[in-house]
Amino acid sequence: MEEIKIHLTEKEIPEQWYNIQADLPRPLPPMMSPVTKKPATPPELTPLFPEALIMQEVSKERWIDIPEELRDLIRQNRPTPLYRARSLEKLLDTPAKIYYKYEGVNASGSHKLNTALAQAWYNKQEDVKRLATETGAGQWGSALSMACAILNMKCTVYMVKVSYQQKPYRKSLMQLFGAEVFASPTNRTNAGRSILAENPDSLGSLGIAISEAVEDAATHDDTKYTLGSVLNHVLMHQTLIGLEAKKQLEKAGDYPDIVIGCVGGGSNFGGIANPFLMDKLQGLRKNLRVIAVEPAACPSLTKGVYAYDYGDSTGLGPIAKMYTLGHTFMPAGIHAGGLRYHGMSPIVSMLYNEKIIEAVSYLQNPVFEAAVMFARSESIVPAPESAHAIRAAIDEALKAKAAGEKKVILFNLSGHGHFDMAAYDNYLSGNLVDFAYPTEKVHEALSHLPKI
Ligand SMILES: *Cc1c(COP(=O)(O)O)cnc(C)c1O
Repeated sequence: MEEIKIHLTEKEIPEQWYNIQADLPRPLPPMMSPVTKKPATPPELTPLFPEALIMQEVSKERWIDIPEELRDLIRQNRPTPLYRARSLEKLLDTPAKIYYKYEGVNASGSHKLNTALAQAWYNKQEDVKRLATETGAGQWGSALSMACAILNMKCTVYMVKVSYQQKPYRKSLMQLFGAEVFASPTNRTNAGRSILAENPDSLGSLGIAISEAVEDAATHDDTKYTLGSVLNHVLMHQTLIGLEAKKQLEKAGDYPDIVIGCVGGGSNFGGIANPFLMDKLQGLRKNLRVIAVEPAACPSLTKGVYAYDYGDSTGLGPIAKMYTLGHTFMPAGIHAGGLRYHGMSPIVSMLYNEKIIEAVSYLQNPVFEAAVMFARSESIVPAPESAHAIRAAIDEALKAKAAGEKKVILFNLSGHGHFDMAAYDNYLSGNLVDFAYPTEKVHEALSHLPKI
């Protein structure tokens, strides 16, 4: 009998994170200061981040030790299972093998806990009392709230107003874990007040909420800022996913031909893909295909440009070289809230620019169609974000069928969709509207890029 779930023991949780900066073809372009427009110096970042994380951000060491005490905390929710999608394979009648790593098994419901716990732990070592952050769809805020509860720290979350209204129970979950949650834009910060002065009915954006959380941290001594995606150290913390998946596939006697992840800021994608990309970059797996999947409503990789841009909306935060739709980008209210970000991780951006990885975009309806097929065959309700990866995995499995090829496909199921029933309701009642971001708007927003 072949297994459906491939498990690891707690002892098999990785002891080190993988840092892809050691294997990139070129060094990453430096992050720039929003004030000087020159490479940001560590003292400019210390009001926002603890030193240990700033060091990780720029480190070129291939392997970074996970502190024993942190590993002990990680054990509560890891390892996560790797599934073989036998029912989905049967439904598709494909010769391809489909595997997925399921990151929705912790209470916050996504992969984001992997970095939330690490970031909170390093902050606590440097005597930080409170963490401020933004959340789009609510998963990052939930993960950080949970991490702060575990480490007995305070947590302040600026939640994008449209999500605050669409997903009230995400707010309740954060409060349950002890966080204070505000609908952004708020009146608590200059950034929020300036947006409200222009448009009192603003439904917010991730970029605006980031500005608010950054300002909160920069103006309070006991408080630091945390970001749930995009940054190099965040992607590194997420490599637990891919490193575990590698061991699990080894147990199953397989290695993927194709690795797939959805991309918002790029962290779950980097988490699953980077440990496999290590083999490709080192020349061991030259034919490995790695696919980043994004919504057509927020197509940073497939329609954006590779340029220096602000990470937030009001130009307070650091400037990074990345694929961007422009920091003034206002996304349509699609349901995959976690994928509504104007930029992309500098690491993922470089991998795409160097043609080491591929990217595709999908409209909402085909994504939800895939989500429903998956739920009915695999008995897991996927997050709308994760369903983008499912769509691409299904399409690759169907291509393999047409070509009669026995491909091994691995995708990351980044989270569950238990808080996304309004979105499913919308889809099932036929009311989900497809939205592709118009190219003219990309050109308009790109006229506001900072001059570096
Ligand atoms: C936040 C989130 C994403 C997108 O963020 P990345 O940093 O690109 O991973 C994807 N899936 C889920 C379930 C999320 O919560």
